[in-house]
Amino acid sequence: MTREDLLHLATTFRDAAADDLEQAQQLSDIHWATFRAQERLDSLEAQLFAGLEVKVDCRAGCSACCHLAKIDARAHEIFALAAWITEHFSEEARVALVARAKAHAEAVAGLSLAEHLRTVRACPMLQDAKCSVHPGRPSVCRIGHSTDVNICERAFENPNDLKARGGHNPDVKASMTAAADGSTFAFIEAGMDRTTYDLSSALYEALSDPEALNRWIGGEQAFSDSAKAKQEGLGLDVASNPLPSE
Ligand code: SF4
Repeated sequence: MTREDLLHLATTFRDAAADDLEQAQQLSDIHWATFRAQERLDSLEAQLFAGLEVKVDCRAGCSACCHLAKIDARAHEIFALAAWITEHFSEEARVALVARAKAHAEAVAGLSLAEHLRTVRACPMLQDAKCSVHPGRPSVCRIGHSTDVNICERAFENPNDLKARGGHNPDVKASMTAAADGSTFAFIEAGMDRTTYDLSSALYEALSDPEALNRWIGGEQAFSDSAKAKQEGLGLDVASNPLPSE
């Protein structure tokens, strides 16, 4: 993949999401635009796996990657996921998820970036070794894939080794990341919260604090500072890297 290929991909995804957002008249339309962007990401992944003949080794019930405590997402993805949960979960299951997400938020709030990266902790949405929110999961969970589950298991068992090789196909990961960043950029350009959040910490607030949604709709930072993703020293962020206009 060349830099030009990745820029083209990011721009294509940005433009598609921008078109969807332009038609949005109410909150449910914005969530629809988010899920349309996720569907395009899923289609791209299928094309990449087929075109690059990638042999994926992920299996049902293997949840090593869902034990990485640091999973980042954007506000539009988190509110779309919260709406999906509210629509599809029973009240009892929703209350239980909120409690697990709260425990997660409290457990990671005081961690440094290095400590967070080394933390092994089941995602609050992981139930019976499966993602209980699979259709609503954010883009970071769609980008993840492995060509060798042994690599994932080694990473799971050795969380202190932050330089361990990943099991992903580099071209697939770069393409999926560029496409996801392109979609995200359309939401940022539309004036929405540009902050990157810790998925479960922010989801807890989305599901328990109605004011978070009001702040987001008002173009403000939706979630608390303690729900922000720890990013110091991790390099560039999509929000500081505008895509070129065509
Ligand atoms: S949201 Fe689902 S796919 Fe993503 S980390 Fe949690 S359980 Fe895994």
